Amino acid sequence: EAAALVLSVNNIEVVYDHVILVLKGVSLEVPRGHIVALLGANGAGKTTTLKAISNLLHAERGEVTKGSILFDGVEVKSLSPNDLVRRGCIQVMEGRRAFAHLTVEENLLTGAFTRRDGKSAIAQDLERVYAYFPRLAERRGSTAGYTSGGEQQMCVIGRALMSRPKMILLDEPSMGLAPRIVEEIFEIVKDLNVKEGVSFLLAEQNTNMALRYASHGYILENGRVVMDGEARTLASNEDVKEFYLGVA
Ligand code: ATP
Repeated sequence: EAAALVLSVNNIEVVYDHVILVLKGVSLEVPRGHIVALLGANGAGKTTTLKAISNLLHAERGEVTKGSILFDGVEVKSLSPNDLVRRGCIQVMEGRRAFAHLTVEENLLTGAFTRRDGKSAIAQDLERVYAYFPRLAERRGSTAGYTSGGEQQMCVIGRALMSRPKMILLDEPSMGLAPRIVEEIFEIVKDLNVKEGVSFLLAEQNTNMALRYASHGYILENGRVVMDGEARTLASNEDVKEFYLGVA
């Protein structure tokens, strides 16, 4: 059973600054090879959940005070953020933080920082990333800060791919992008999922789009999962339609 799940989050609580309880018992699962959507309004706790998984809460004065998180069967608490990347769990932060002053290609190469295999394997993977993102191939020599928002989002996903992940935690990739570009990015995510077997936990406010690509979804409200199920079932649920569809 455990092998079928790349990620299992079991009843976690997260507290910021020792007193602010933000996650109040969140459980979720990502079956290996699936795209799972984590949905909810601004402030519901999506980013906090992703940071708890990738063990990045300390920098925010946050702490998991209850529950457990298993990535590939291993308790993440016992792993440093870099260990997690080496084991195949990587987070793509909200706000597409490409290194603005580096070229697109330099940005991609920074994604290989935890790898110990040789230059030729890394060069091969660079070409693999360009095959998925032809726009990045065209812009490889451009300063990232001067590329479009969509290209920067592609750049940070491409950078994550350079670590050869099993799972990518993708935080609001659609934010601020035109629907056509969002669709282009989600099509590539689907492609990576199908062809490379990468699992995704996709935090999104764009419920509509996320449920078109995910197999399962969880809806967070005020630090709790209030609904979950198959993406198709959620997309046709009346409450979901009323409160979440058509808002993004
Ligand atoms: P967003 O779409 O803005 O990313 P979200 O669903 O990801 O929203 P979080 O960013 O996880 O939500 O925030 C959940 C709650 O935790 C919010 O009420 C937020 O104000 C609070 N919060 C987030 N970071 C901190 C922090 N470092 N210290 C205190 N409270 C925080």
